[in-house]
Amino acid sequence: MPTDESVVRDDDLVQLEPGEAQRLLSAPNVREALLYEQLSSGRARCGICLRRCNIPEGKAGYCMTIINVGGKLYTTIYGVVSAAHADPIEKKPVYHYKPGSVCFSVGSLGCNFRCIFCQNWEIAFADAVSPVGFCEYSFGPEQLVQRAIDTGSQGVAWTYNEPGIWLNYTLDSAKLAKQAGLYTCYVTNGYVTPEHLDMIGPYLDIYRVDIKSMADEFYRKLIKVPSVKGILESAAMAKSKWNMHVECVTNVIPGWNDSEENIRGIASWIVENLGELTPWHVTRFFPYAQMQDVPPTPIETLKMAKRVGEECGLKFVYLGNVRTDEGENTYCPSCGKLVVERSGYSTRIAAVTDDGKCAYDSAELNIVIR
Ligand code: SF4
Ligand SMILES: [Zn+2]
Repeated sequence: MPTDESVVRDDDLVQLEPGEAQRLLSAPNVREALLYEQLSSGRARCGICLRRCNIPEGKAGYCMTIINVGGKLYTTIYGVVSAAHADPIEKKPVYHYKPGSVCFSVGSLGCNFRCIFCQNWEIAFADAVSPVGFCEYSFGPEQLVQRAIDTGSQGVAWTYNEPGIWLNYTLDSAKLAKQAGLYTCYVTNGYVTPEHLDMIGPYLDIYRVDIKSMADEFYRKLIKVPSVKGILESAAMAKSKWNMHVECVTNVIPGWNDSEENIRGIASWIVENLGELTPWHVTRFFPYAQMQDVPPTPIETLKMAKRVGEECGLKFVYLGNVRTDEGENTYCPSCGKLVVERSGYSTRIAAVTDDGKCAYDSAELNIVIR
């Protein structure tokens, strides 16, 4: 069992209405969950994310998408899609994997985090055991792949809410997507178990993960997660064991994670564990949800983060949610020349070879082109 196993109390878990469990079992979007362990007294432990909820019979897990009926766990969001868009991959943001490609992106309901600044709370905190008006409930893996092909997409992404709680669906659709020649992408908070990664690893190309802070206190106070440790371990495993293309995002929140010490800690960790060529996106915070009293991130703070990231050895630090003259372009760390030009979501590959090197001096850029 991982050392940072979170303690989810029974009081944190939602009780199903009488008769609801039986109704749910006959719904087409309900499937027996993967990666769970039956315990005594009708309880079962979910192994999909690092919360590792110990769920009593008749209750839903912390994410409100996994239910215990008769001592077995079931997911309620198989093929439940709350949003679907053909997006530029740069919007994820992912800058070094098939730049300029279209990535068909879907999200569902629920989340294993409770960020008080969540920008997608309508879907993230939805009660996924009840029908939600704006969702499609039979968006199966075949439909996902077909929509990706029909929209000219080169890949699919699970995003908008947390894909790390949607394993039954992401796994089936990732297998189909790979068969169809599409790339696959998780846009994740990273709170997934090693066994989750081992299951999806053979079919997942891109792991776009948030590293919000190196301070456990940040995760405890703002997200109700005990520690960043498991998130870091999973990101390192995605890279080292499954050779996924990893890009990291840090949303810089004034007064919470914007100290130079914290920024340096994140950047140093990325260099040491994921490599100096890992793209790191430092993004601007805007007041939202229960964090209206915090101002937007000053541009100077983002520039400080970029400077510190580069001092730590990172070769590709990008500013996000803000327009700057050079913040979105990619320059070769060896010769300094422009290799990928970006403006908004318009992307031009200026000088990258098919094997991801600088066309001027063959320096490694960690860019997947084909
Ligand atoms: S996926 Fe949901 S039920 Fe399973 S451990 Fe995570 S929060 Fe708990
Ligand atoms: Zn070069």
